[in-house]
This record gives sequence, structure tokens and C-alpha cells, in this order.
Amino acid sequence: MAYGVTYLRHGIPQIAHASRDVIISAGAILSPLMLMKSGVGPPQILRDANIPIHEALPGVGQNLGDHPLAQLTFEIGNAAAAAAFDAILPESDFEKELIKFHSTPRDGMYFSIALGRPRSRGSVTLNRKAYLSREVNDENLAAIDLGSLADHTDLEVMLEALRMVLKIKETSAFKRLDLKLSSVIPPSCKIYRFDSNNFWKCYITHTTKTFWHYSGTCKMGPKSDPFAVVDSKFRVFGIRALRVVDASVLPMSTGSNTNAPTLLVAEKAACCILRNHLQPNFGDKFCPLDYPWLFKPVVDPHK
Ligand SMILES: Cc1cc2nc3c(=O)[nH]c(=O)nc-3n(C[C@H](O)[C@H](O)[C@H](O)COP(=O)(O)OP(=O)(O)OC[C@H]3O[C@@H](n4cnc5c(N)ncnc54)[C@H](O)[C@@H]3O)c2cc1C
Repeated sequence: MAYGVTYLRHGIPQIAHASRDVIISAGAILSPLMLMKSGVGPPQILRDANIPIHEALPGVGQNLGDHPLAQLTFEIGNAAAAAAFDAILPESDFEKELIKFHSTPRDGMYFSIALGRPRSRGSVTLNRKAYLSREVNDENLAAIDLGSLADHTDLEVMLEALRMVLKIKETSAFKRLDLKLSSVIPPSCKIYRFDSNNFWKCYITHTTKTFWHYSGTCKMGPKSDPFAVVDSKFRVFGIRALRVVDASVLPMSTGSNTNAPTLLVAEKAACCILRNHLQPNFGDKFCPLDYPWLFKPVVDPHK
């Protein structure tokens, strides 16, 4: 059972007792870390760090999802054509405002290739050595392996997308810009014939970076799934009154940016938790957030 949280305020340890639930919302990297530090997680990791096990949940910190991102940059040889290219973009006040912040020099452009539904998965574990030497900074305690492109299918899909970019470059509209590849080619890729599949695979492998879209490390799932961490009501398996609500509960990566889906996770959790406390007999479709009058402060007639 979760009773509350301990935390530091101005460097002084404090305890906050929870009358109902404790909700962890520290994000897909730090929520699993917080669980592990509290004795909930993969038993071997907890044992190695001498953390007493409250609940053995092998899925904590596993299934880390992200969207790998590679870029191809080009120099624009024909500046006049680039200016004409701008003019064919539809104009609106909103776009004008955006362009102020995103204006790029007119002598270059880049294409981003991001994988929306990667098969590869990474992990977040506790850095045992740092933990045992009493490190308190979470940034040093989290051992992150993004696992990018670990599944070879992801590399094939990225290659296909890159080839599509090269095809777009050859369309008549882009040809007018006279684009010349200006991406820095990693030295180890120069052993491959330029433009061969091996050349581009090497380029993708060496230049792919994170899109910062972490999810999945406290995944939601049925009790029968040994790697599920929370149930459909965000409750951590095996620990009463403890929930996780953030991007870490998403069992699979969403196809694109993760901020909006995380807001939906939060809204669903708010409905579920409020329903549980205010109208426990109502069905799953009832969300107290839709009835603001339920939250009117109770007026005490004696005051
Ligand atoms: C650089 C960057 C750019 C991004 N750009 C986009 C974008 O353009 N569009 C998009 O959709 N998504 C974007 N994302 C992803 C998006 O921010 C996340 O998907 C989303 O914020 C996830 O929400 P969350 O609640 O899971 O975690 P977070 O938003 O990370 O919230 C976790 C919170 O917990 C706090 N916390 C952690 N540990 C503790 C602790 N021990 N005590 C107290 N508080 C703690 C953190 O300070 C943080 O405020 C970006 C992410 C990054 C890092």
C-alpha cells in the first residue's frame, strides 16, 4: 500500500501523507526510476541495488518507445528559385507568425525522416553503481538505452523513407532549386559506395537521434501480461493506492508527437479517479469532469 511521498523542501526532508491515492507523473524516464527506488520493479535490478522489494514487476522501465529521427540537409544552388518556391506556399497570418520563428537561411533546407511506429524498444534501469554510492541526482541514476533501430525492420523502413526524400528531390519543383547534399557523412560510411543501400544504412545508423518522444516504461495492460505495470485504471499491480499517470503508461508508441496523447491519458485518468471517489457505481462512460457542479465547494451552514 502507498501511504505518501517523501521529498526535499529547501533541502529539508518532508513527508506528505496521502488520504487516498499517490499518483506518480514523472514522465517515461523518471516514473519507472521512482518506482524502482521505492522497491517496485524488476527483482534483479532491485536486488543488485540492495533495495527491499515491495513488488516484483519486471516490466518497470522496459518497453521504452521513442521516434527515431534522421535528417538529410541540402544546399540550395538556385536562390532565385527558392524565393519563388516560398511564394507558392499558401499564406495566412498564422503561417507568417510561425515563419518568424522558423525562418531558415535561404541557402539550405533539410528533410526530417521520423519513424512513427518503430518496432525497436529500449529500457530505463537504475544505475546500480551510482545508487550504491548515494547519488541523489536522477539524471545520474537513470541508465537509458533507447534501443533505436535495434530491430532491423526499423532501419529498412528508414531507408525506404530516405529513398523517398531523394525521389522528391528529383521532382521538377525541387529540381529547380538545384539541391546539393550537404549532410555531413560519418567517416565510417565512406567505405561504402555512395548512394548504395549500405551507404545510406550506415548514414542512418550513425546520425539517427531521438525525437524526445519517450513512452511505454510503465505500460498499461492486463494482469496476464507479465510486463504490464498498471491496469486500465492506472493502478500499479500489487500496490494499493498507487497509480502512474503519464506517457509511460502508453503500451505502444503513438504514431506521432506524444504531448497531446499524454494529455488524453491525463484526462482519462482524471475521469477514472474522480468517478471512483465521487460516483463509484456509475459506468465507465461517466466522467465527472463533464459535470462541473459536482465540484462546487460545499457551503458549511455553521460558518
Ligand atoms: C526537448 C523536447 C521537445 C519535445 N517536443 C515535443 C513537441 O514538439 N510535441 C510533442 O507532442 N511532444 C514533444 N515532446 C514530448 C513531450 O514533451 C512529452 O511527450 C510529454 O511532455 C510527456 O508528458 P509526461 O507527463 O509523461 O512527462 P513530462 O512532461 O516530462 O512531465 C514529468 C514532470 O515530472 C517532473 N518530475 C520528474 N521527477 C520528479 C521528482 N522526483 N519530483 C518532482 N517532480 C518530478 C518533471 O520535472 C516534469 O515536470 C518533447 C520532449 C522534449 C524533451
